[in-house]
Amino acid sequence: MSDDLLKKVISHAKEYGFVFPSSEIYDGLSAAYDYGQLGAELKNNIKHYWWTAMVRMHDNIVGLDASIFMHPKTWKASGHIDAFNDPLIDNKDSNKRYRADVLIEDHIGKIEAKIQKDVAKALKRFGDAFDEAEFRSTNGRVLDRQKQIDDINVRFKSAMEAEDLVAVKQLIEDLDIADPDTGSRNWTDVRQFNLMFKTELGAVSGESGVIYLRPETAQGIFVNFLNVQKSGRMKIPFGIAQIGKAFRNEIIARQFIFRMREFEQMEMQFFVKPGTQAEWYAYWKEARIKWHNALGLGEDMYRFHDHIKLAHYADAASDIEFNFPMGFKELEGVHSRTDFDLNQHEAHSNKKLRYFDPETQESYVPYVVETSIGLDRMFLATLSAALQEETLEDGSTRTVLRIPAPLAPVKVAILPLLKKDGLPEKAREIMAMLQMDHNVQYDEKDAIGRRYRRQDAIGTPLCITVDHDTLIDHAVTIRDRDTMTQERVAIDQLVAVVAGKVSIAQLFKAS
Ligand code: ATP
Repeated sequence: MSDDLLKKVISHAKEYGFVFPSSEIYDGLSAAYDYGQLGAELKNNIKHYWWTAMVRMHDNIVGLDASIFMHPKTWKASGHIDAFNDPLIDNKDSNKRYRADVLIEDHIGKIEAKIQKDVAKALKRFGDAFDEAEFRSTNGRVLDRQKQIDDINVRFKSAMEAEDLVAVKQLIEDLDIADPDTGSRNWTDVRQFNLMFKTELGAVSGESGVIYLRPETAQGIFVNFLNVQKSGRMKIPFGIAQIGKAFRNEIIARQFIFRMREFEQMEMQFFVKPGTQAEWYAYWKEARIKWHNALGLGEDMYRFHDHIKLAHYADAASDIEFNFPMGFKELEGVHSRTDFDLNQHEAHSNKKLRYFDPETQESYVPYVVETSIGLDRMFLATLSAALQEETLEDGSTRTVLRIPAPLAPVKVAILPLLKKDGLPEKAREIMAMLQMDHNVQYDEKDAIGRRYRRQDAIGTPLCITVDHDTLIDHAVTIRDRDTMTQERVAIDQLVAVVAGKVSIAQLFKAS
């Protein structure tokens, strides 16, 4: 995994119509991207997989589609106006802006990489007899490095908790951290930067008209908690799920669609009885990693990272990190948010946001366990893990996107062998059979080998070839993207065979 792979992903995504830079004819807008014809399909399929898993497969979870604009008091209550900040630092020589916490995390990452190297070397030396846990707990050099990491974490955590930005700057200086681009150590002081985008309501001028673009979809769920609970007659525990845009004025938005200022979240807030949150937190950690693993991108591509620095609202939090081309980074968060948000909204709105338990006749403010995944990050995870270049037996190479079949933008390509003899007509008949259920592409141009390569490059799991025999035996050839094997299938079996390979239901069978 490397920067190289990220570059390849970006150029592949552009060449085949997955992702374009936004407003490219004006040279683009930094960190804004448009999803092209295949990108829109992949994104929809990811949403569909998430929505099916969360809403359809749980009879106590329902969906919501709240507006992006909300009453500004929402953000006072949620803490975003006062505390949704990142510590910012500028380099005076390069005029580049960085997040102080990210500079420190990257420094820790470098020490971790050295430990990994030591481990890899020892593994090579000791072979099968190597006990990694023992090595890590006894090797002097590794222990020194681990201690450095622990010390940095302790200093950073206490500086952030005390909101002591001078101490954060001191830590950057003590660690001798340089501008990653230029090597300069000439830093400004660290200061807080609020990440919410502000705009104004049409008819109202001045401060009273200020309105924010939501920085997370979760608050739309909290303010509707009672609306949904009452109108849907929901009983605790229950969840509300939502997919929608969120906006953050990120200090640095880089690494393609990993960090953008406008992005999409898939969030679910699960309302539970106070005291049961730890068990639901464990449940959702497990359920979410299962959802990821069912895609078959490789279990070693994920890891949990439990937070040491908890957000103001959380009593436990963990990230599911994915091995992106830039290394392991946050893909999804599972957070035990306590009753913080509902309490805050009660206090700021003067409306009761309580659940009345008909069995115990008690009324209480529920606790919340949240799962929150970035759709764009999930898209990048899928695309970067899928992109592969393979050398075939005959020595030729092919570029193949091994996107999990149920997520693939085009599920089936219909390829008449020739452009004549009634083959195109037959091919279009077959296309009509499949197109209600799947996104299907028709292609009659060029030799069949080239058509296969084009479909491999966009990740189409199945190619159906219609040949002269089809007209006689009423069967077609299905070629599999991953194995490149071909099988003959009767046309009247086709709907079932295709569904058995590419429908979203396959992902639930696997888990
Ligand atoms: P990070 O630490 O990377 O800034 P975060 O911890 O602030 O992320 P959350 O507030 O937990 O993120 O948001 C939930 C999810 O939303 C994240 O796991 C991520 O997938 C996604 N997300 C957050 N910020 C962005 C962004 N700027 N661009 C794309 N996706 C994002």
